Amino acid sequence: MYEVVLIPGDGIGPEVIDSAIQVIEATGVKIKWKVVQAGQKTEESEGTPLPNSVLDAIRETKVALKGPITTPIAKGFRSVNVRLRRELDLYAALRPVRSFHGAFTRYEDIDLVIIRENTEGLYSGVEHWVDKERKAAESIRIITRHASERIIKYAFEYARLWRRKKVTLVHKANILKATCGLFLEVGKEVSSSYPEIEFEDRIVDNMAMQLVKKPSEYDVIVTSNLFGDILSDLCAGLIGGLGLAPGANIGQEIAVFEPVHGSAPKYAGKNKVNPTSSILSGALMLFHLGEREAYHRIYNGVKEVIREGKVLTYDLGGTSSMSQMTEAIVERVRGG
Ligand code: NAD
Repeated sequence: MYEVVLIPGDGIGPEVIDSAIQVIEATGVKIKWKVVQAGQKTEESEGTPLPNSVLDAIRETKVALKGPITTPIAKGFRSVNVRLRRELDLYAALRPVRSFHGAFTRYEDIDLVIIRENTEGLYSGVEHWVDKERKAAESIRIITRHASERIIKYAFEYARLWRRKKVTLVHKANILKATCGLFLEVGKEVSSSYPEIEFEDRIVDNMAMQLVKKPSEYDVIVTSNLFGDILSDLCAGLIGGLGLAPGANIGQEIAVFEPVHGSAPKYAGKNKVNPTSSILSGALMLFHLGEREAYHRIYNGVKEVIREGKVLTYDLGGTSSMSQMTEAIVERVRGG
């Protein structure tokens, strides 16, 4: 029996996380969920969207499954997601992107992983108004050798473990000569310890274009915080949308699993969205816990339901509800 913290989150979060729980339970792996709340409602009731008790609970279990949490735009509290990743030092955001045959998409042969630095860069939160009249504002992009080294090493270790052939480092060192220059320099240094893995680098704007034109040429992509955020949504679009993209935030000892998508407030409570990204985030969590067979059963179950094309949510061109798609996946996982 594993003990795992469960954060339902905001908007569509509680629904999609419930789907993930149903599918995890169908594998037979026993989990004791420790449910804690964070997000908008918690801010209203407790005066903070991320109480320390949530962080303490995750420090204790070392593993959490989390729904998306709303962040007010251009005002209000700072992102709970960013704070959680920084407080728990979850330095690597792991976002596998794989095509599903049958999903409404242009590409059928994508199998890449985005590894995004999760603790610094433009998400460092060092931002202020330059003048009282608010005519100018500045944000400081912090890149350190320490954080660059550990994320790039993580990418190469990941490539080695999963027998992947190539690591592509994404940057903008032609313009951001110090920050991206440092990231690239560290990449070149680290790559020399992994001679069996091909190393290349790409400027981020070119990378966005290359990913749209020939995504199957990419394998493991490592990049800084903001670029990774943008490119992982782009890659989710390539395989059929955010409803299919799982994610994990990994630290030295702690890992928090969550879908790449946000709380999509307009769909909250409508039983409409695609539960797959949360279900696959749950599968990644099982893999992390050592339950590899359960991981493969979930992955294959999702694959079959999408390939069959009978029970799909709107984003995949279907008319089924979220709970119908969840039930179809549960049946596949139970069966096999
Ligand atoms: P979003 O990912 O919530 O939604 C964007 C669009 O993607 C939706 O309108 C919908 O069309 C589609 N979509 C998202 N999830 C889907 C699913 N499961 N199935 C089908 N379609 C899906 O992004 P947003 O609208 O930019 O952000 C909404 C809120 O979520 C914001 O407050 C943002 O800060 C927050 N957010 C949180 C996280 C997180 O908790 N990790 C991540 C991203 C955004």
